Amino acid sequence: MDIETFILQELHRANDRMPEDKANSIFIRCPNPQHSGGFERSPSLRIFTQAKMPRFKCYGCGWKGTWNDLADTLGLQRLNAAVEINDIPKEIISSSDLNNFLGFSHVVEQGRIKEREVHWYPDTVWRELPGPLLTKVGALLVINDRAQFRIRFPAYYLGKRVGHVTAMLFKPTNKAIPSYLESTHKTGRMPWSHRHVLFHDIAREILKKDPAKPLFVVEGPRDALKLLQYGIAAVALMGTQKTEDAKIETLIRMNARKIVILMDGDDAGRSAAQVLRKKLTRQYASVSRVKLPEGTDPFMLPKKTARSLERLYRS
Ligand SMILES: [Zn+2]
Repeated sequence: MDIETFILQELHRANDRMPEDKANSIFIRCPNPQHSGGFERSPSLRIFTQAKMPRFKCYGCGWKGTWNDLADTLGLQRLNAAVEINDIPKEIISSSDLNNFLGFSHVVEQGRIKEREVHWYPDTVWRELPGPLLTKVGALLVINDRAQFRIRFPAYYLGKRVGHVTAMLFKPTNKAIPSYLESTHKTGRMPWSHRHVLFHDIAREILKKDPAKPLFVVEGPRDALKLLQYGIAAVALMGTQKTEDAKIETLIRMNARKIVILMDGDDAGRSAAQVLRKKLTRQYASVSRVKLPEGTDPFMLPKKTARSLERLYRS
């Protein structure tokens, strides 16, 4: 369903608001209580359906906002990012649209691709991970001038954004397409991911609140998010080749009483776990390693199991 059909359908459910189609725009009677008690006679609230998140403006009282504001007022269905992303035909996104749309958002230039970042929508799930969690870790929705939508996880280190990874909204079916792309930011002279981990700050916050908790080190963002969802301190290495000394230093500096290595149950995961364990132990960290069954990863851990692992390694 396209956005306009969705909106018309919703408006028809609102008593007494019967949308009118004037000059290719949808007009309804303004529900603002400060405008004729919310029951003006002729429609002066216009809804613009061209944007990804439709907006409205009342020419009578000046009230304006997004579809979701209006939906809340009228008790109608809100739009979430997933709805938009699935349903927006790409050809309606012109570059001028992109420049107007989300004009308040941060514009990033990455090579020749211009993109915009907005906060992730708290009501939108991404690959089984709940919206409020994604919002909490600072996830962003990215729209680029090729009309592609992505999710982005900025890497924060002590409040400073040091880099980010960007992921497809849907798992690519083509195995040749990587699920995650790292930004090219540098820390000193090395790529940021040689020194930093993903979700450092939020994991550190959890450890600060409860220093007896262990710190889990996992491979990918989704593994870490799954644990963070349960309040478990976890950081993502960003792959199994990322065991540089600078990164070991970052992990050590998190001052966890216990570091638990939790890599995927495959060859790459097992060898990364060995390297990590050796390097961390050399720095006098107290390290344990959890071996997952072949073919499994931390994302598949049931909540109960994840929680009991955390209890097991408390100090
Ligand atoms: Zn009004």
